[in-house]
Amino acid sequence: MSSLAEVEHQENKLSDTNFPLFSSLESAGHEQVVVCSRPDVGLKAIIAVHNTTLGPALGGTRMWMYQNEQEAIRDVLRLSRGMTYKAAISGLNLGGGKAVIIGDPHTDKNEHLFHAFGRFVDSLGGRYITAEDVGMTEQEMEWIYSETKYVTGIPKSMGGSGDPSPVTAYGVYMGMKAAAKRAYGSDSLEGKRVAIQGAGNVASNLARYIAKENAELFVTDIYREKAEKLAKELSATYIEPDNIYCLDVDIFSPCALGGVVNDETLPVLTCDVIAGAANNILDDETEHAARLDGMGIIYAPDYVINAGGIINISSELEGYNEELAMRKTSRIYDTMTDILEYADTNNITTLEASNRLAEERINAVGNIGKIYSSSSHFSHRKGELYMRDRR
Ligand code: NAD
Repeated sequence: MSSLAEVEHQENKLSDTNFPLFSSLESAGHEQVVVCSRPDVGLKAIIAVHNTTLGPALGGTRMWMYQNEQEAIRDVLRLSRGMTYKAAISGLNLGGGKAVIIGDPHTDKNEHLFHAFGRFVDSLGGRYITAEDVGMTEQEMEWIYSETKYVTGIPKSMGGSGDPSPVTAYGVYMGMKAAAKRAYGSDSLEGKRVAIQGAGNVASNLARYIAKENAELFVTDIYREKAEKLAKELSATYIEPDNIYCLDVDIFSPCALGGVVNDETLPVLTCDVIAGAANNILDDETEHAARLDGMGIIYAPDYVINAGGIINISSELEGYNEELAMRKTSRIYDTMTDILEYADTNNITTLEASNRLAEERINAVGNIGKIYSSSSHFSHRKGELYMRDRR
């Protein structure tokens, strides 16, 4: 498997009209890509299984109006690979996978489409386990679940773990504290000025943790009333969306969209720490991680500290236990501390450190797996057995 940085660099150079599928799969190390087509119900979906060294490939299904098929393929390849790294660095025995359904989530949904998709997921026999992602709701997950047991992150009413946002927020909080410890010598956020971008599900739960430590909070959202409501609840200050980057704060927490640390925003950032929930915070991972490092800003890699969601849904595979999921999520603090130390020792960015640590774990487990052991063979099937029993 090529390193994540190498693969991303190659992908950035590709144009939409010139997407070399097989060489992309080879360089990023994808195991399998399944194209699912049922024109009679309007289904066009792609399932990508990136790596199953650590276990079955887990990752959500995204429904999105992609501009063209190349864009959908690129997204599913990038997202599935990201899930491999997220599971690996989080200590989960899971691989990385993702699915995309090409279509407008507002107008192109129908019951039969999701039943058909569920059957395709089922046909992979557990190599890929799906979950909810952008553009999907509980209703569609219910239809998929009626066709396959290989679904997780299902609503509490269906015996699942429900909304993962509170657990994700707790993990981001833990990762932020570990980064603060490195920046200030103490992980207390008391008196720290913290800017949170987005006032959605994760951000509001995160803001409540931070507020309990008597930090000075600043919040924003493109829906002003949402941010103002949160600001009122926590005695925080509302900030206009465009002004969040140049605010004089200690910690910046992007919890809305990806790509917000970019060539335009980087020069105005004055914080010591960036730690947020949004996926793909850095517009160009390699370049912007290096520039943040050069500016002395500690970057807590997004996929490391927002892993509470996957930790939560993966707990469903062994029978959901909220307390255990929270305990596992609290370990994000230690993982982040290890990453900071590894980055220091090897004189590399925190992002490169976490990528390398994830790759080391995959390679080490892969090598151990070459030793035949009948009992570990069966213990790897625990999730599979639970999935069968719960239905
Ligand atoms: P959400 O939709 O509840 O909240 C996102 C908020 O960001 C919305 O209120 C939206 O209005 C706001 N927003 C969008 N663009 C903005 C901008 N330019 N400036 C300010 N605000 C803006 O989503 P969420 O579940 O809270 O997730 C937040 C982020 O964390 C997303 O990037 C998501 O992919 C990521 N994430 C979420 C989870 C989870 O468990 N929910 C897990 C991992 C990663």
